[in-house]
Amino acid sequence: MNSTDLKSSVSALYDPEINRTFGELGMISKAEVQANGTPVVEVELPTPAYPGRERISQAIQSLVSQKWPGSPAAQVSFTWMVRGKDSGGKIGLRIKNVIAVGSGKGGVGKSTTSAMLAYGLKSFGAKVGLMDADVYGPSIPHLCGASGQPEMVEHRGPDGQVVPRIQPIEKNGVKLLSMGFLVKEDQAVIWRGPMLHKLLTQFLAQTDWGDLDYLIIDLPPGTGDVSLTLSQLLGLAGAVIVCTPQKVALLDAVKAISMFNQVKIPVLGIVENMTGEIFGRGGAKDQAVKSNIPFLGEIPINASVRVLGDEGRIADLFKEDSPVREPMLQVCQTIAMQVAKSLLETPELPSLEIL
Ligand code: ADP
Repeated sequence: MNSTDLKSSVSALYDPEINRTFGELGMISKAEVQANGTPVVEVELPTPAYPGRERISQAIQSLVSQKWPGSPAAQVSFTWMVRGKDSGGKIGLRIKNVIAVGSGKGGVGKSTTSAMLAYGLKSFGAKVGLMDADVYGPSIPHLCGASGQPEMVEHRGPDGQVVPRIQPIEKNGVKLLSMGFLVKEDQAVIWRGPMLHKLLTQFLAQTDWGDLDYLIIDLPPGTGDVSLTLSQLLGLAGAVIVCTPQKVALLDAVKAISMFNQVKIPVLGIVENMTGEIFGRGGAKDQAVKSNIPFLGEIPINASVRVLGDEGRIADLFKEDSPVREPMLQVCQTIAMQVAKSLLETPELPSLEIL
């Protein structure tokens, strides 16, 4: 066995989650046979939320023991680098993947799911931002226990001009921005279309998001105008639709799918929230199959979600021994993998070289 053999054999294995070889996915960052004969393989995962580390490790171990009987056991280690569509590139942002979270109607837990998704991806180690585009009922600051006024910081633009930029408010390691930071809680805000467009543009292009792996956007329920603006400004990784298991709620999910189709935002799939005795279970899965879109998992109905949300401690769902922690982490993994897969299904066009 030599390093070249090892690399080509390992590269020909199929990734257990994405139906391509490790070689095609560019996931083998190192394959070396050490002086004492130990094969050392380093695998670079496309997201820290990758669910199949153990299976990869086993596949490499058994390849080595079958192909080179008697060789020392392979040492397999993992690194990660989030792959993305450069979602914010059009407007000068360094955000790999923007994921919009929408629903056909209010009250299904869309904002709660957005916040759980942001903190869940953060708990795997990703750099995450959460933007509240639900300008009519901004609930992200409350759910995350964040308050205060975002600061304006002056930056030098490319031509030396001074450009003011909004600093998001960081809470428990996630960068947050919401209309809720800018108006009083009891103040109603009436937005006309062009103002809304301008505000969202500021929230994106004139905000210091820094380098992010994922920016989660909590959309207002139903209507398409916010989605249309986002679709114009960003190359979204896609939209996640949240719905509850009941039939009536599912009809709204179908409307949401059609809305995203109209504004050309790819749908990553449906999440069923509040699964359990009260509302039933499985409706969203059936609907996903019928609509031919991926099902992204179930979040159980559980009082701790409401309590932690009410107390501004949604991030604690991932610290404490919460019954929602595991299912929510699984939903985060499925969404992150769906993003990684969609990237391969719609490969980026090669950039034009200017001669
Ligand atoms: P939306 O953004 O769709 O209007 P919210 O996220 O504000 O919905 O959630 C509506 C209510 O449902 C909130 O009180 C929230 O705490 C509660 N809720 C959301 N998801 C769950 C869940 N999985 N279990 C229990 N309560 C939930």
